[in-house]
Amino acid sequence: MNDDRQRIKKDIKSMTLEQLKEDLVSRGEKAFRAKQMYEWMHVKLAEEFAEMTDLSKTLRENCASWYDYTCLKVVRVQESKIDGTKKFLFSLSDGNLVESVWMKYKHGNSVCISSQVGCRMGCRFCASTLDGLERNLLPSEMLEQVYAITRLTGERVSNVVVMGTGEPLDNYENLLRFIQLLTDENGLHISQRNVTVSTCGIVPRIYSLAGEKLQITLALSLHAPEDEKRRSLMPVANRYSIRELMEACRYYLEQTGRRITFEYSLAAGVNDSDEDAQKLAALAGPLNCHVNLIPVNPVKERDYAQSDRERVRAFRQKLEQNRVNATVRREMGRDIDGACGQLRRKHAQAAVNCNDD
Ligand code: SAH
Repeated sequence: MNDDRQRIKKDIKSMTLEQLKEDLVSRGEKAFRAKQMYEWMHVKLAEEFAEMTDLSKTLRENCASWYDYTCLKVVRVQESKIDGTKKFLFSLSDGNLVESVWMKYKHGNSVCISSQVGCRMGCRFCASTLDGLERNLLPSEMLEQVYAITRLTGERVSNVVVMGTGEPLDNYENLLRFIQLLTDENGLHISQRNVTVSTCGIVPRIYSLAGEKLQITLALSLHAPEDEKRRSLMPVANRYSIRELMEACRYYLEQTGRRITFEYSLAAGVNDSDEDAQKLAALAGPLNCHVNLIPVNPVKERDYAQSDRERVRAFRQKLEQNRVNATVRREMGRDIDGACGQLRRKHAQAAVNCNDD
């Protein structure tokens, strides 16, 4: 009985205001209660129903029995001594761990969130995928990474990038709901233009996303300018060719009017030659893409080495000679396991080691 009730509990923080209204009315409550509760959850960032003091105690108790209230517990915080970047390790209600990063820039604070527990895409240089996919994150669990960090830092978040662990387009419906709630005028109301979604390039989902007509920024993890090389770095390239990807990008640009960013991680001797830069420019130029160069972050289990400064500079110069805008991503939090998935992995392994002792 108890178990059954648990299973049918709705995840209240993943519900839209409209859905919440309908649900409360169907339980005999007044519709305006939905607005009050929504504000407690998504503006005042309440951590439990008990905080919602303008609701009767009975209603608060009933809500706790009707709904699941997603809240993340912070397990660990690491702060970079170099640039103040903070990395948070959170635990979910089922004990799974996710990590999120808080970065301070002149133009505002940015949070990088995870979209899945683990990842099944298998990119060769990435730590997040080493143990495969555990499960998708709920919209509320993505939102809570932003909310928990806002509570913990006491500072407003202005930009959200979905570039942590996981492939956001592999968790498509939950991602869309997350964006809807995050940018909702009745919630935190973060501008769609300040939201970036990074994908390894699942072509059919790029078409679907284009159809949503959002004003978010799409970042495509390209990492190689030709199929064979891309396949050696990213298994997803076996499913979709660069030609198909570029067509999807063109469609996305046409439909949304939003320029796409190409992400390109530079690994020494792998994808960082002048010839690579030339080919990359030929792809980025016609689409008017911006290129974000990321010196590959060495991961213990992988043997890719960073291109040296001079190579990165020359690569960028080659792009710019071909009239392609490129920036080298500032390496935030190098001293705190900056690369995707490293903190979560380290923590999980430490736990295993403890058990072994
Ligand atoms: N799944 C999404 C988002 C996750 S990773 C995607 O593939 O885009 C965010 C970016 O970091 C991606 O471009 C990814 O390829 C890159 N990345 C992952 N591990 C890296 C590493 N060790 N060094 C440099 N970039 C890395």
